[in-house]
Amino acid sequence: MNNKYIAPEKYLKSFTCPHCQTLSLMHFDSHHFQEDTNESFSSKTPIKNTLYIARCCNCGKKIVWIDNEYIYPNIIAEEVNPDLPESVKQLYNEAGLIYNQSPRAACALLRLAIDRLCNELGETDRDINKNIGALVEKGLPKKVQQALDFVRVVGNKAVHPGVIAFDVDDTNTAKTLMRLINMIGQSMITEPKEIDEMYGLLPDSTKESIDRRDSK
Ligand SMILES: [Zn+2]
Repeated sequence: MNNKYIAPEKYLKSFTCPHCQTLSLMHFDSHHFQEDTNESFSSKTPIKNTLYIARCCNCGKKIVWIDNEYIYPNIIAEEVNPDLPESVKQLYNEAGLIYNQSPRAACALLRLAIDRLCNELGETDRDINKNIGALVEKGLPKKVQQALDFVRVVGNKAVHPGVIAFDVDDTNTAKTLMRLINMIGQSMITEPKEIDEMYGLLPDSTKESIDRRDSK
């Protein structure tokens, strides 16, 4: 589960299997088929399609494309940071299930998730720009803010959470937003938690070394 995530792509020798979440070798097969021309359909020329099936060498399940369109199964892009608040994880996972089919809906959910995450981190301004700015002052890397700006979460053309920006919301934007949510979680929740845990360990180990020294 911890190996690097590689998104499924047609004819890529190995990628992260959306079924078993393992970076596995893929065996590809393709079939050409022709659609029956429907009388009511304006085009008189037969439609030729190609069906691509990748078979995962680890779990044996199939991943399907028709021509250039990814079809099956739904993909969660990058595993959600487990330290994120439940409400944020829910929005993230929901977006992860639909971003291939409905990138715009996924981006709207992810902007909501970022808004929710800011609130959970104590930044409750209605302006997400101000909230992210406050997080930067608390230690969020400036680069994350710049990246959020780039995908129009906090910039001049900011879209209010839940409002759909039709021109930019594609699968790449969705993937970027997911990565950024994980990065905010990493720097604002996971890392402080790990440092706290290390501090928590200090007194015991200090006591032990004192005990050892005193028993000599
Ligand atoms: Zn698999």
